[in-house]
Amino acid sequence: MIIRKCGRPALPPILDDYERERRDFAWPRAAEVNIAQEAVDRHLHTQIRGQVALRCVGKDDFVTELTYLDLHVETNRFANVLRGLGVGKGERVFTLLGRVPELYVTVLGTLKNLSVVAPMFSAFGPEPIRERLHLGDGRVLVTTPALYTRKIAGIRDSLPGLEHVLVTGDDPAPEGTLSLRELMAAAGSAFVIPPTGCEDMALLHFTSGTTGRPKAAVHVHGAVVAHTITARYALDLHASDVYWCTADPGWVTGMSYGVIAPLVLGVTLVTDAGEFDARRWYRTLEEQRVSVWYTAPTALRMLMRHGRAPAAEFDLSRLRFIASVGEPLNPEVVLWGQEVLGLPVHDNWWQTETGAIMISNYAAMDIKPGSMGRPVPGITAALLERGGDGRARVVDGQVTVIEEPDVAGELALRPGWPSMFRGYLDDPDRYAKTFAGGWYLSGDIARRDKDGYFWFVARADDVIKSAGHLIGPFEVESVLMEHPAVAEAAVIGTPDPVAGELVKAFVTLKPGHEPTDELLRELTAFGRRRLGAVAPKEIAFDQHLPHTRSGKVMRRLLKARELGLPEGDTSSLEG
Ligand code: ATP
Ligand code: MG
Repeated sequence: MIIRKCGRPALPPILDDYERERRDFAWPRAAEVNIAQEAVDRHLHTQIRGQVALRCVGKDDFVTELTYLDLHVETNRFANVLRGLGVGKGERVFTLLGRVPELYVTVLGTLKNLSVVAPMFSAFGPEPIRERLHLGDGRVLVTTPALYTRKIAGIRDSLPGLEHVLVTGDDPAPEGTLSLRELMAAAGSAFVIPPTGCEDMALLHFTSGTTGRPKAAVHVHGAVVAHTITARYALDLHASDVYWCTADPGWVTGMSYGVIAPLVLGVTLVTDAGEFDARRWYRTLEEQRVSVWYTAPTALRMLMRHGRAPAAEFDLSRLRFIASVGEPLNPEVVLWGQEVLGLPVHDNWWQTETGAIMISNYAAMDIKPGSMGRPVPGITAALLERGGDGRARVVDGQVTVIEEPDVAGELALRPGWPSMFRGYLDDPDRYAKTFAGGWYLSGDIARRDKDGYFWFVARADDVIKSAGHLIGPFEVESVLMEHPAVAEAAVIGTPDPVAGELVKAFVTLKPGHEPTDELLRELTAFGRRRLGAVAPKEIAFDQHLPHTRSGKVMRRLLKARELGLPEGDTSSLEG
């Protein structure tokens, strides 16, 4: 099925002729570029200077606003704070903060000073925090007094390199920390950004850790070119927009599209520090008059779980574009968007390593629900033939590109886009292994249809091989979600002496549905009817599927639990 775009979105789409754009596209290159210069200081010479850059809705609903001019001054002060502490180029400034104004000031001020931003989820426990601060060589940490006391004080002794901890708020700073407010008040408001090379390190991003130990991906200032262009193409962002990115600032989406790209484009950025709650989210969309919304499948599935009624209570007429990332977006969710919110959801695909959106359903493009879309201009994507281990087959350093449509292969990208990661910190071997035959290997399996749309099959590690079938969990999960009782599903393979693996599904039920034997039989029959040979042989009810902090179902963990194996690295597991 295709959702045809008849008529145009409220603003003219940037892509009139997708293929022409693709042919003509060349990534602009500059020798020097600084992310914070592009996101903040550049606007001082335009009318955007007085516009609201940031509108932070607090947990208590208190709203704090900063104009672009305010942001300029505050980030200058923070850069001066770092300079005053003797923190220089390339040194790591970690954040452990929610969506508060100080976070944005810290990130952009750090980039002005040419120090490196390493954001963490504020919900991490002490051990994942310690591990990341250690791995990333954190010299400065900015956090709240409460988080410091609960999570950092106990591990501080094991982190000799962590010289300065800066805490937010008006209360006296706990022992061993410095008050950010006092430092800011004493710092000068003028700061000249030093010359910044395109290849200067800007951000250190830890991957979601869905499949194992988190890796620290290195990103550079030149990436801003890709952040900005892709936000225009794939999120349809324009200067007049009010934009809400629900991603936590602790992962790559929360930085590339939650801070950098929208500010470069001069939009008003809305953030909400409150916990997920269907009514609250709809209220934020309404009250803040959000026009472009970037969220994740798990959030949308949660909204779906609450049915249509809450959505109908709010005026969402300002909303004109919705996009999603992070996990495969079930066709059911795209259609729900169309029906309940009046807009389809535009899926896009990328990774911590790619730094920016690589494959996307555009504003101007017909949507095929369930497809990730097509490569953004300037990106060449291909599918590579796979070997016995499920990953691209490499023979004498060479790989084979699949030309025919609808054949699953490892999704690969031609290196060279500006936001491409420049390495995994201190792990050159692992970095080198992600390239073969002139391609970056994503570790995801996908197929491409005859129209050039890419369809996600599975993470290479999650593929199930059952009785000669190659089964992607996503396909099975999406079908189960079409059943009215199912809110979310996660599918894994369990070992079987005959079939190799058997498909097992865990399902979360919507409110009002009970986990009865009858429902189990019904779901099993439903699966068999819709999926035939690849239907789950076993279904279990589970109201608490494990998710990463970035909202992805951790099938690896479900599998380990099922097999009674060690759970491995669970540092990014949602608490
Ligand atoms: P780790 O690499 O540590 O196991 P991770 O891969 O989950 O963690 P991220 O870089 O945050 O860390 O996530 C990127 C991955 O998320 C992609 O490789 C893909 O598997 C999945 N993903 C992202 N967007 C989509 C999408 N639109 N459709 C399907 N999968 C997606
Ligand atoms: Mg990954």
